[in-house]
Amino acid sequence: MANSFDVIVIGGGHAGTEAALAAARSGARTLLLTHNIETIGQMSCNPAIGGIGKGHLVKEIDALGGVMGRAADAAGIHFRILNRRKGPAVRATRAQSDRQLYRQAIRQFVEAEPNLQIFQQPVADITVAGDRVTGVVTEAGIAFGARAVVLTVGTFLNGQMHTGLTQQPGGRAGDPPSVRLAARLREMAFAVGRLKTGTPPRIDGRSVDFSRLEPQPGDDPRPVFSFIGTIDDHPAQRPCHIARTSEKTHDLIRANLDQAPMYSGQIDSTGPRYCPSIEDKVVRFADKTSHQVFVEPEGLGTHELYPNGISTSLPYAIQVPLVRSIAGFENARITRPGYAIEYDYFDPRGLRPTLATRELGNLFFAGQINGTTGYEEAAAQGLVAGLNAARLVQDAAPLIPQRSEAYIGVLIDDLVTRGTQEPYRMFTSRAEYRLLLREDNADLRLTPVGREYGLVDDARWARFETRAAAIETEMSRLGQTRPDRDQRNRPALIELLGKAPDPDATLLDLLRRPEADYDGLMHALPELDAGCTPDVREQAEIQAKYAGYIERQQAEIDRQAKAEQTALPDSLDYARVHGLSNEIRQKLAEFRPHTLAQAQRIPGVTPAALSALAVHLKQRA
Ligand code: FAD
Repeated sequence: MANSFDVIVIGGGHAGTEAALAAARSGARTLLLTHNIETIGQMSCNPAIGGIGKGHLVKEIDALGGVMGRAADAAGIHFRILNRRKGPAVRATRAQSDRQLYRQAIRQFVEAEPNLQIFQQPVADITVAGDRVTGVVTEAGIAFGARAVVLTVGTFLNGQMHTGLTQQPGGRAGDPPSVRLAARLREMAFAVGRLKTGTPPRIDGRSVDFSRLEPQPGDDPRPVFSFIGTIDDHPAQRPCHIARTSEKTHDLIRANLDQAPMYSGQIDSTGPRYCPSIEDKVVRFADKTSHQVFVEPEGLGTHELYPNGISTSLPYAIQVPLVRSIAGFENARITRPGYAIEYDYFDPRGLRPTLATRELGNLFFAGQINGTTGYEEAAAQGLVAGLNAARLVQDAAPLIPQRSEAYIGVLIDDLVTRGTQEPYRMFTSRAEYRLLLREDNADLRLTPVGREYGLVDDARWARFETRAAAIETEMSRLGQTRPDRDQRNRPALIELLGKAPDPDATLLDLLRRPEADYDGLMHALPELDAGCTPDVREQAEIQAKYAGYIERQQAEIDRQAKAEQTALPDSLDYARVHGLSNEIRQKLAEFRPHTLAQAQRIPGVTPAALSALAVHLKQRA
């Protein structure tokens, strides 16, 4: 068939673009089919990338050769490290982005990929023969053949937008919903649910009195997202501001709750717990008299502002006084009303850890349709699904990142093991091995993996090798240098540490002491400063300071390794496993874990049940 591809990716959002690029980069002839080429890489909601847990995902995507971090650098107009004063495990990068520059950067990456074609058409149908997908058909009846298909259609399936009591079909403001495709997918064997999310009204910056807002400048030194990026990749920078809702805002919301679709009963699906609407916040935290609103620029070439924190689906007529009840916004003009959207999603327990569906082995799902929320969560899944679609076609082993290796592993394991009843977003608290899964070492953890799977090009690999070698050299120098051997440095060391160190102590030992940090140590012993770059100094310090905790986590991972590698076949009949209670049998049959370790993570599955499973597997073997 002339119109035939190895991999077809449906949807040009955050999941779709990473999926298409990963498939193409790993050698598959790939087609990206999307509603509208102009909206490739469009941010549907807030123009920002990263944040707690999410920044970790971006760094991992970048380490695996993905483009989100590089696009965030090309578009970032305000960079911060969140949790800077906390431990390195929870520090997270966030970039306010120029919406247009971000889209432009993603489109450039997509168009520069030689193995990737783009076609603008809404997909209406997925063709199936037996338990395989054979291709897709667009709304205009154009058919394409595919050996694997990745579906990444976000909030578009049966999308229904709500502003006040008015409803309107839509995939997001300005885009049509995917109704025919949704109907086709509902005919298939996937478990479908409804979720919702919302967005605030946008404001004309010229109508805001900034003197009444608290400015929030970006960080200095400015962080960079991509491991191969530099500060020179960034465009001009802009400050953000903080505003606050008032008692008047809250009174207004309370008085109009009957017109808020969530409370009028018009929407009964679940929304993102950690990104609630202002209606939700006012009801849930009734004793609070004010909530913060982060006033974020939408871009360099526009006055529009994104007031982060007042997502609402109240009628437009109420949104106007709501916005104007905020100090500094008394004369604010709304440029776009806020709204909520409800959409179809699929129970991710219907997926394998490769992100292929259990029912159709060459159909992959990624992004918001798997019950997640956020660009970063979508992009991370997209990269894995796209790569694995290509690997399937190439008859090569899939990439299944483990929980101990990456937040991407935590994300996918949480989804396929436990499913989700509300929009799932990433947090550092979801990772049990978070001291190992830091932003700063994402490349050390994952770039070799990306290289092995064909995702990392020569230029990135060369940069990685240089950095990894510099870190190794410095760690070994620190471990071999004994600064107090000849007592020449004793006075400086006493001043730094408060007492004389053991003469046999190495620089590494000294760095582990609470009184010392890398810069302080090198300042005290300037002749022993190797002049390393800031990122090598940071790695040396973190690796030294946290070595004990890291070793303990590694030992725990090693203990778990056997359970992670013990597969539970799809065909396993739990009714035949002796020693399981009926309740646990039912749970296992419902969740269908892929490994013994996954079974262990299902709430209520006991150690005794795991032993019974292990015995059964041995007997089957
Ligand atoms: P999307 O970015 O939605 O991309 C889907 C792509 O598929 C689009 O390019 C679309 O054109 C294409 N497409 C759809 N149907 C078809 C078809 N039939 N054929 C071809 N192409 C098709 N996230 C947060 O983290 N916090 C928030 O507060 C937040 N609020 C949101 C508010 C709103 C109103 C919306 C719409 C989204 C919000 N999000 C929020 C979610 C965020 O936008 C998504 O998580 C993210 O965009 C998901 O990425 P995705 O790639 O899965 O889907």
